[in-house]
This record gives sequence, structure tokens and C-alpha cells, in this order.
Amino acid sequence: MSTSQTTQSARPAIVDAVPKDLFVGGSWQQATGGKTFDVLDPATGEVLCAVADASPEDGRRALDAAVAAQPAMAALSPRQRADILTRAFDLLHRRIDDLAALMTAEMGKPLAEARGEIVYAAEFLRHFAGEAVRIDGGYQVSPAGDARFLITKQPVGVALLITPWNFPMAMGTRKLGPAIAAGCASVIKPAPQTPLSMLALIDILREAGLPDGGVNLITCTDAGAVLEPMIRSGLARKLSFTGSTKVGRILLEQCAEKVLRTSMELGGNAPFLVFDDADLDEAVAGALQAKMRNMGEACTAANRIYVQSGVIDEFGRRLAARMAELTVGPGTGDGVQVGPLIDAAALTKVTELVQDAVDRGATVLTGGVQLGGAGYFYPPTVLSGVPRDARMSDEEIFGPVAPLTPFEDEDDAVVLANDTEFGLVSYVFTNDLRRALRMAERIESGMVGLNQGVVSNPAAPFGGVKQSGLGREGGAIGIDEFLETKYIGIAMPK
Ligand code: ADP
Repeated sequence: MSTSQTTQSARPAIVDAVPKDLFVGGSWQQATGGKTFDVLDPATGEVLCAVADASPEDGRRALDAAVAAQPAMAALSPRQRADILTRAFDLLHRRIDDLAALMTAEMGKPLAEARGEIVYAAEFLRHFAGEAVRIDGGYQVSPAGDARFLITKQPVGVALLITPWNFPMAMGTRKLGPAIAAGCASVIKPAPQTPLSMLALIDILREAGLPDGGVNLITCTDAGAVLEPMIRSGLARKLSFTGSTKVGRILLEQCAEKVLRTSMELGGNAPFLVFDDADLDEAVAGALQAKMRNMGEACTAANRIYVQSGVIDEFGRRLAARMAELTVGPGTGDGVQVGPLIDAAALTKVTELVQDAVDRGATVLTGGVQLGGAGYFYPPTVLSGVPRDARMSDEEIFGPVAPLTPFEDEDDAVVLANDTEFGLVSYVFTNDLRRALRMAERIESGMVGLNQGVVSNPAAPFGGVKQSGLGREGGAIGIDEFLETKYIGIAMPK
């Protein structure tokens, strides 16, 4: 591992330019009492800026604004909705340099990854611009021939959208894209660690022609206190959440009272399986991607790497060598591939998980020691012989740590892979087609990467089974999460 020469994270001009207030009913407004909270730069731990800290009353104002705008949103023609999304797609690309710099400042990921996320985020807008004009319906003759069924789809109504900090722009467009395409007004609440990307996106959507109140934004530190009354009011008809399973469970309970529709993208604990017939170089490259994208801070990150016993030593050597070559430093630094973790709590958790695995008998092949200094940096780490009872077998690491464990055969691999309450994604590396398909069918996860370390794609249905969530985002079915199906029965006596 090498560390970048750059010690200071430069503060880009867009940090000052981006609005810092709540966006309610088409205008920027201060939080009650002018309350604010600080946003930190994870590369230095220093304050970047302050943004509005909404109260429950502010949240309610935002919700009321969305309710007021719902008829106008539903009345937009599909083409008008598509055009707004297409214009926003263009603006994201035109401002990619600024937006990437903003994201790196608040979240820490290397600039190249931040640019990649802006492209990915924009792709959701383009994808759902296409879906907006393809919302389908049906016409059917009743079985007895005495009636006709018209089937149509309508916007579900006002949507509450809650996003996490790890993909500050893409998690927003993944929800706002289908909400706008379906004709739903919304209130979005980004994570307190990374509110700036969403604040910038709101300005872009406004410029793209979104009606006042069509999207409202609140930032706050006490999400529970602000969101719970909004959810329980029943004024919103939909909640789309990306975050931890722990918070997802709380929100599902709150949604039950007024029977809100829910989409839940929750935690993962992805198994990454390497069979002895796999191309080992491809498997190592795939593991690097699946592990190191976003410094390992992704719900899709390979959390448990299982390698068939005959190739595990060689795989471990090659992966450790590649991990050790990565350059760690502030996301703005030249050639930096691994930025800081999001905050002090994340750094503490990763450190504790590694210590726990080592205490239980794991061996450190590379990394494993905190880097010290300012910012929340942790070195790329490979552990071998990680036992089943290590905490990281059950908990999301959310850091650049690759734990290796051997397996013997397919049955063994399936048992290990499925031994978790989660089921978001799994990765399988093998050159045997039948084995690949057997594994893909037997593993309990919403997504499977076959000989590839990244599955996320706006045109594909993203989502998990078991306690990884409910519903799918993206793909042709992503817009259905924001639509209700209505059937109109028409008497047609013979
Ligand atoms: P993480 O552990 O990755 O921060 P969380 O599930 O805690 O994940 O947070 C994801 C999002 O959910 C953030 O926007 C956060 O502010 C929000 N959140 C956290 N707790 C609650 C809650 N009780 N009600 C509503 N939103 C919440």
C-alpha cells in the first residue's frame, strides 16, 4: 500500500455555491429557528459547511407542500415528465466536474469514483425518462364474456424518500427518477453525513422544469423525530428507504399503521465464491471490484469471500498483492484509489471487526493496522482463515477488508453462502456453465454476479430477498414501485 502525497483535502468552490436550506414548495427556506448542523470532510475530519437542521414542523411543511403538488405532478403528461428527467440527465453530465468534487468533499471517495457515480446517477434519470412514456395498461374480455376489464396504472401518491450516505447522488436519482416518471410528488431526506449532493440535484431538477412542490428536500440530524410523524400522518402513500436493516424494520412498523406502500433496500452480507475451475486472475479482479468499490462501503460489497480449498492459498497471495498496491489518501489526491471511511464510528467498527477476527484465529495477509493521522483512513486488508464465528461473518464490514475462508464443494459453498439473514447479492466465479447456473439458482439472493464483481445497473432490477429488503429499484419494473394498478370493470351484456 502507498499513501498519497496530498495531505490536505482541497475545498471546492461548489461547496459554497450549493444551497444549504430546506427546499419546500419550490423555495429555499431556513429551518425553524435557523437551526443548522455541520457537514464534515472525512479526509480531514474538519467542518466543510453547515446545512439546515429540520424540525418535525419543518418536515410537516415539506410533506404538505408535496401533498399540494401531487395533482400537478399527476397531471404532467408522460412526455413532460420524461423531458424533465432528460434535461436533468444532461445537466448532471454538464456539471460532472463540480458535482464529483462536491461528492468527494462530503463523502471522501476518490474523484474518479465520484465521477463514475455521477454518470451512474444520471443513468437512472435517462432510464426512467424512457419508462415514463412506456407505462402500460390492458384491455381484457371477462371469462364469461359479459364484461370488459380496463387496466391502467396511476401514481401511488406522495412518496417519502430516505437515502444513505454511501452513494450520495445515485441513491437519490434511483428514487427520484421513478417517482417523477410515475407522477409522484415527494419529500427526500438525504443522510446527514452527505446532504450536499442532493441539495445540488434539487437545484438541477428545478432548472429542468420540475413544478413547485414536485420534490421537496429536508435535511436533519434527528431523522426518527422528523420522519415518524410524517409517516404516521398517512398523507404520504409510499416510503422508499435505502439504509440499514435495523432502521428498515422500524420504518416498516411505522408504515404499517396507515398501510403505506414500501420499498426497502436494506443491508447485505454478500458471499463471493471462487471455484477451483475459475480463471483466478478474473476472480481476483472481480474480488477487488466487489470489495473495493466505494472503499467497501456498499451494501453490495463482498463481505465473505469463500474460495475452494485447492486454490485458496494462491488466490489469497494474488489478492493481497493487488490490495497492497492500492494508493490510500484523500479522494482529491493524485492517483488515489482508496479514500477515507465516512466517519470515526465507521473506522472504529472496521478496526474492531478485524481485531475480533484475528482474536479468533484469522491471519493478516496485508493491512490490518490503522493508519493514524487526520481523517478516517483504513488500509486495504486481506485476512485468511476467518472462522464462522467471527463477527464479520454476520455483520456488514463496510470497509476495505477482505476475509477469506475455504470451502470444499458445491454443497458446502451453498450452505456457507446462505447462512445469513441477508440476501442482497452474491458473486460466483467458475468456468463451468452448469455449475454457475446451479449456484445461481440455489443461492438465496436477489442478484447474482456470475464472473463479475459489479451488478449495479440502472436498467436491471436491483434488490434483495430475506432481510435485505422488499421491492426492486431500476430495470423495467422499477417504476412499478411508484404506481398503483387500477382495474375498471365495464358491463357488456351479451
Ligand atoms: P447507516 O447506518 O448506513 O447510516 P441508517 O439506516 O442509519 O444507515 O441510515 C440511512 C438513512 O436513514 C439516513 O438518511 C438516516 O438519516 C435515516 N434514518 C436513520 N434512522 C432513521 C429513523 N428512525 N427514521 C427515519 N430515517 C432514519
